[in-house]
Amino acid sequence: MSIRFYNTISRQKEAFQPLEVGKVKMYTCGPTVYDFAHIGNYRTFMFEDLLRRYLEFRGFDVNHVMNVTDVDDNTIRRSRERKISLTELTDEFKTAFHADLKTLNMLAAQDYPEATNFIPEMITMISDLESKGYTYTTSDGSVFFNIEKHGHYGKLANLNPDEMLSGGRVADDSYEKEGARDFALWKGYKLEDGDVHWESPWGKGRPGWHIECSVMSTELLGPHFDIHCGGVDNIFPHHENELAQSVCATGADFVNYWLHSEYLLVDNKKMSKSLNNFYTLRDLLDQGYPAEAIRWMLITTHYRQKLNFSVSRLEEAQKAVNRLREFYSKLRSYEISGGEDAQDQIKLAASQFTSAMDDDLNISGGLAAIFELVRWGNRAMVEERLSTKGAANLLQLISTFDHVLGVLEMESGLKTEVDAEFIEAKIEARKEARANKDFALGDAIRDELVALGVELIDTADGTRWKLK
Ligand code: AMP
Ligand code: ZN
Repeated sequence: MSIRFYNTISRQKEAFQPLEVGKVKMYTCGPTVYDFAHIGNYRTFMFEDLLRRYLEFRGFDVNHVMNVTDVDDNTIRRSRERKISLTELTDEFKTAFHADLKTLNMLAAQDYPEATNFIPEMITMISDLESKGYTYTTSDGSVFFNIEKHGHYGKLANLNPDEMLSGGRVADDSYEKEGARDFALWKGYKLEDGDVHWESPWGKGRPGWHIECSVMSTELLGPHFDIHCGGVDNIFPHHENELAQSVCATGADFVNYWLHSEYLLVDNKKMSKSLNNFYTLRDLLDQGYPAEAIRWMLITTHYRQKLNFSVSRLEEAQKAVNRLREFYSKLRSYEISGGEDAQDQIKLAASQFTSAMDDDLNISGGLAAIFELVRWGNRAMVEERLSTKGAANLLQLISTFDHVLGVLEMESGLKTEVDAEFIEAKIEARKEARANKDFALGDAIRDELVALGVELIDTADGTRWKLK
């Protein structure tokens, strides 16, 4: 049996066949770094981590690229609100994001491209689209993609062609499906962009959000790769627009499998910044919930089902992790003479786990196989039916499963990899900023350190620090 994934574009499960035998090229839309990511965002990133880990468990060599959106409508707006430069703002949240990834034990991607490092390549792709006749320019120096020129616009999001507003256009990065219109590839400079602008053949301006991902994915994975992921809200307009741009610019197919994860909800509403119903990872760690419980809660509901966040779910999650950990540690210290090697149970659990997970990451089926083995193993240890060799075999299998789950070796709480030298350099930079009366910068540096779990204590003799 092969792995099957639900492909958003065909709206059915399909057998997974990578372009190159044994290798998977996967692009996932990463965070927009204008604030701390909330655990709704992490539900999506965690699904992508589970997918990556499972593909590795099945023997694939995965090349995972996750971009970082460090210039868009949100980042520019927030940096102006906070009266700091775009880079100061985005550096702070990039650092926090990478710390969160470690805390949640997500495997590091091979690349984390940042949009502002690819502006010339974006200009090249827009010029290509222009020379092929897919664009038009408006009087403010913006370039729009003409959706009518692309015969298949709306295929990914399953848009009804009659509902598309032909001739209309939209400059915002985000908008609703009902408002499908020509969208901005390049945005001519406006006063509210402050000092965020680049030179281009169309005058000074900045890229639209969608072109960023088309370019970064093509640059790092080529014009045609295996898997593209995001949350369901990325399907439209972001991924629909990426698909249109990429196919028209490169002539290649772009992506073979589109996988999207459902929302994390709070009281049945999407967890989001705009509804102000969100928790950051730090909020939950501060309330005493360990990272492994958060990780477990987020990965153990099937990715295409909505998941309602609740404290009782976190408590249940912690119990499940504890059960697995206790089993693991009992196996480690188990030693008797005689008993059985558990070969049959191991074969059964491995095949049940694999066939469940092969079916579009059916995590409940996968966990049922693991916990059935845990029940059997616990009983066999109490009854001293399991041999020492059998315990070692079970340990090995549980470790292999944990390559997918990623919870056994997690440390509770924030893992900080910052060193003293780094912290002291930041404190010095803050002192300098304050001496220059640049209090916004001073505060931004403090926030960056707080995000890493570093507490600053200002005293008459200078600033001391400690890890929270
Ligand atoms: P953003 O930083 O806003 O670009 O979002 C990063 C990722 O988080 C995107 O893939 C979104 O689809 C995803 N996302 C945002 N809110 C939620 C939520 N409540 N549940 C699951 N995923 C979400
Ligand atoms: Zn993207």
